[in-house]
Amino acid sequence: MSDQIWKTKPPYQKPDEAFSKVLQGSCHCGQVKYWLSKDGPLASKYCHCGDCKVIHGAPFQWAAIFQKSDMAFESGAENLRFYNSSSKSLEHELPCKVSCSQCGTLIMDEGRNMVLLFPTLLKFQNETQKRNFEVQCHIFYPQRVVDLPDGKPKWTGLDGKSELVPET
Ligand SMILES: [Zn+2]
Ligand SMILES: [Zn+2]
Repeated sequence: MSDQIWKTKPPYQKPDEAFSKVLQGSCHCGQVKYWLSKDGPLASKYCHCGDCKVIHGAPFQWAAIFQKSDMAFESGAENLRFYNSSSKSLEHELPCKVSCSQCGTLIMDEGRNMVLLFPTLLKFQNETQKRNFEVQCHIFYPQRVVDLPDGKPKWTGLDGKSELVPET
């Protein structure tokens, strides 16, 4: 029997009275809907690592970091699919990839305290909100399939924990 305790803990709880619904995100089919209580992330980055490219089927991944308590699921939390890319387990084993079980849209990477969600799912209400999600840096840049000469810091691995790569 798998451990189902995650269902009652952030970010999977329903938004209560105290939770301010600032920004909404949803998957492609609409089964999964969530709210954020903040109008911007703690950090935002593009990841060029090999795992992200394969799992997302995209040249790079855009991730925005939030505290788990700043996220709440309006619907679809019981129909999520999990995937731990190290063990390849489908159990809710952190850190893991979280996606909609129906349409396959990737919702977030869930870590132990934080979530790295994918801002392409968000419904921005104005330009300010959109600007809040602008990336600060690129990570795992040497693994890129496309050059992005945007003047932002480019790290060989994790930001602050690897070397900076000069822009070519
Ligand atoms: Zn869906
Ligand atoms: Zn990555």
